[in-house]
Amino acid sequence: MNRKKYGHEFHHKHSLGQNFIEDEALLEELAALSLVTKADCVLEIGPGFGALTRPLAARAKQVVALEIDQTLLPILRVALEPHPNARVVHGDVMKTDLAALVREAFGEDCSLRVAANLPYYITTDVLLRLLLSLPQAKSIAVMVQKEVGDKLLSRPGEDGYGPLAILCRYYADVRRAMDVPAACFTPKPKVDSSFMVMQRWADKPHRAADEALLLRLVRGAFAMRRKTLINNLIAAFPLDRAQAAQALAAAGLDAQCRAEALSIEQFCALCAQIERALPRA
Ligand code: SAM
Repeated sequence: MNRKKYGHEFHHKHSLGQNFIEDEALLEELAALSLVTKADCVLEIGPGFGALTRPLAARAKQVVALEIDQTLLPILRVALEPHPNARVVHGDVMKTDLAALVREAFGEDCSLRVAANLPYYITTDVLLRLLLSLPQAKSIAVMVQKEVGDKLLSRPGEDGYGPLAILCRYYADVRRAMDVPAACFTPKPKVDSSFMVMQRWADKPHRAADEALLLRLVRGAFAMRRKTLINNLIAAFPLDRAQAAQALAAAGLDAQCRAEALSIEQFCALCAQIERALPRA
């Protein structure tokens, strides 16, 4: 699909997840749902034509928008002319040091929020990267496939429950702010979307003393989905079967349980027991 935008030819790249939103009222609503105020500095991933960047910039102190597609840069220059507080950086969100980018753009003490109509081919990786590398981000508001929205809200034992839901909800209060039909995007994708807002917990409801270990545990617990948790634990950690069984028992868990049955609280309890069981370095 070729089109002209702000005087420049543009060719849509399906491979970069380029499904743009052009409905001004919807874009205003998304910017409002992103919780951005004049006190906030905003990191936007994938500005496209700058359609969401503009209402974000109108609300924010400053915006930095990270875009991988070089052919969008001249278009963004024109689109964002009326918003001197918005700057575009050319780069790949998966390869950019986001913490350094935010520090350079906004300084050490900014009130940071993230907003994006995400490219869907990298949603899971981007979400985890944002959560883990920008601990100061107060909120992350993202458009995702509706199915990913369902996953993020899924409970133990439900379809889709796994590392993404557990880690996102460990760090943040996750809500579905709005469902957005496929018809709102150009080109129209095959699936509907949801705008999800994650507000980082000021005070987490459940805590792991060692968050790096929790990350390793959650990833390891789901590594082999058909296996019981104990077998995944033995594969992921330097523990023998008896030590892994002891850790499960001490966390109040059944020896035959599976990772998908555990709540976030139970993962935190198990994490404490794994920490105890691991050989000291
Ligand atoms: N924000 C615009 C909107 O709402 O209309 C565009 C959203 S479009 C779904 C996703 C955008 O992310 C595109 O502009 C695409 O070029 C950009 N993008 C894709 N992969 C990227 C990556 N790895 N790093 C940064 N931007 C990327």
